[in-house]
Amino acid sequence: MLVAFMFTDLAFLPESLHMTYIESRITMQFPVCFLLLAATFLPNFAKHYQAALSASMLSIIFINYWLIIQCWEQAGVVFSYEGTVMYSLFSMFVFRMSFKFAMVFSAATLLGFVVMVLMYPMYGDYTGINVGFVLMSLFIGLLGTYRIESGIRKLTQLNDKLTTLSETDPLTSLLNRRTYEARFSKQFKLAQRGQSTLCVFVIDLDYFKDFNDGYGHVRGDKIIQQQASNLSAIFKRETDIVARYGGEEFIVVTTNVTESQCHDFANQLLAQWQQLAIPHGKGRAGSWVTCSIGFYWAQMNPRITKESIVKLADQALYEAKEKGRNCFVQYCEK
Ligand code: GH3
Ligand code: MG
Ligand code: MG
Repeated sequence: MLVAFMFTDLAFLPESLHMTYIESRITMQFPVCFLLLAATFLPNFAKHYQAALSASMLSIIFINYWLIIQCWEQAGVVFSYEGTVMYSLFSMFVFRMSFKFAMVFSAATLLGFVVMVLMYPMYGDYTGINVGFVLMSLFIGLLGTYRIESGIRKLTQLNDKLTTLSETDPLTSLLNRRTYEARFSKQFKLAQRGQSTLCVFVIDLDYFKDFNDGYGHVRGDKIIQQQASNLSAIFKRETDIVARYGGEEFIVVTTNVTESQCHDFANQLLAQWQQLAIPHGKGRAGSWVTCSIGFYWAQMNPRITKESIVKLADQALYEAKEKGRNCFVQYCEK
């Protein structure tokens, strides 16, 4: 852009000013541009992008003011100020200067321009209108930056909301089955590669159909939500996958755990329901709401598949139900 300006400017300027003009471009503006370009290779540049951009563009604009003054003082030539407007709009809309930085940048640009025209009245009768033009252009730039930024912010919020909605189960806010599948695949590959331990729990509420029949679906939903918060309170690691598998059935995947830790987790879950002691008049396992747990724990090796782990945990759950419910069973090879 600067090179394109150079040719048009040089065609219009008298020869006596060519050296001053070239000096301002080659020894002042270009080095600023190259410095900014070189800074983009620094590791933390993204963090300081706005500050670096504002400082560079302000330097370029003030070098232009210096040139305008030189043209006026040396040859009485009135050099155009529109470049200031173009640099500013370019910074805001193309280089995406943030609104916060654009405010400071615009104030400094305008202040510099006003001081310059007051000290060197090169625009004569047009001083007022030119200041107004710069002011309005900067205002339009600021307004545009603000609107773009608030639009992007709204879109980001909406996008985050949609992502959450698509990844979670609306009743419990736990991961839904689809997200569970995707995360489990990833976690499984990591565990497989690291030969770490992995455990899958399948958890199902006991006699829940009876609970719904006796207390209604709304109370039933509350129990499902309670189960979700019980699980979230136990499986707290960032890498734990806690999901609603379907209906009143939940699935948990946890890695780098010992067998005895898994026994503790299962016992904690059963104890939570015992403590809550929510009446289940129609239940046969006890007088309160309970759940059954099946889990499969393994030291990962290449023979283990994702599908087999869930199948074996499911089989353990079935055994827990057979054993009389309100208990856990760890799958063991027979
Ligand atoms: P079991 O001890 O053998 O598990 O007996 P169960 O009655 O719990 O049997 P099952 O696990 O098959 O129960 C599924 C019941 O869960 C059926 C349905 O009434 C209830 N259910 C499934 N999804 C929901 C839900 O979103 N809300 C409510 N309130 N109930 C649900
Ligand atoms: Mg059930
Ligand atoms: Mg079930």
